[in-house]
Amino acid sequence: MGLKSIGGCVIVLASSLATPALAKDGHRFFISVDMEGIGGVVTGEQLGTQGFEYAEFRELMTAEAAAAIAAAREAGGTEFVVADSHGTFQNLLVEKLPADVQLVRGTPRPYGMMQGLDATFDGVIFIGYHSSTTNTEGVRAHTFSSARLADLKLNGVSVTEGAWNAAFAGELGVAVLAVSGDEAAVKEVQSLVPGVEGAVVKWPYGFHAARVLSPEASRQAIREAVKRGLARRGQIGIVRTKTPVEVELRFKNYRPTEVLAWIPLFKRVDSHTIRYSAKDMAEAYRILEFLTTYEFGLEP
Ligand SMILES: [Zn+2]
Repeated sequence: MGLKSIGGCVIVLASSLATPALAKDGHRFFISVDMEGIGGVVTGEQLGTQGFEYAEFRELMTAEAAAAIAAAREAGGTEFVVADSHGTFQNLLVEKLPADVQLVRGTPRPYGMMQGLDATFDGVIFIGYHSSTTNTEGVRAHTFSSARLADLKLNGVSVTEGAWNAAFAGELGVAVLAVSGDEAAVKEVQSLVPGVEGAVVKWPYGFHAARVLSPEASRQAIREAVKRGLARRGQIGIVRTKTPVEVELRFKNYRPTEVLAWIPLFKRVDSHTIRYSAKDMAEAYRILEFLTTYEFGLEP
């Protein structure tokens, strides 16, 4: 059994925990879809409901998810759950999805970008992912909240949303097979989760600039990466995170840290950083979602 420790995450490579080859009796895949890493996206004009290109990019985002599903179906997948995981969590066009797909939409939800995943799935695919807030490269690089968070550490290691989500999936015994996004995002996930297949759909020049593939070429890159990921399913490691899980959140502002430190769960590490311990990734995820969601004025 190959045991490789990467920072605080223990990555168990293939062998004893290898996922079995696809049998004949149907297989379920979970696809988490963000938007910053969709081919062609470079600024908020494509990402927000007020952007002049948002409507068009909802179509392109849906088409990239559909490309991943088509490739997974060709490789033996029979059931698909897609988690709309950007902004309002209501970007994907439900009417454009095939009949064998169920869509997770709306927010807040306790497991955010991974809501709907359980241990019965045979693999996870990330589409449209972006690099982390501590990465100096990548279109719209951020971690969970571009406005509020300056770092997210899991067991002492700064992680990208993809690595965090892979750790959540790993705890359920499910491997991440493929990721798409810009080159920085794909490389960052691959550095923390070895063996994951990548589809690079753009090459960043900055936070709001990139050289991008055409939508057709982006979908082709995604189809190929998903096919490779499913074919190599037995060799891609499942992320095993050491428990209890220690999470460190660095806020961009001062007062969240001050107020959270009133609660014994949170230890104030410095002016902008709090730390908490959770019994597992599921609990860590719920606490993170609470921290990024709760406000006194929540209605209804
Ligand atoms: Zn997003």
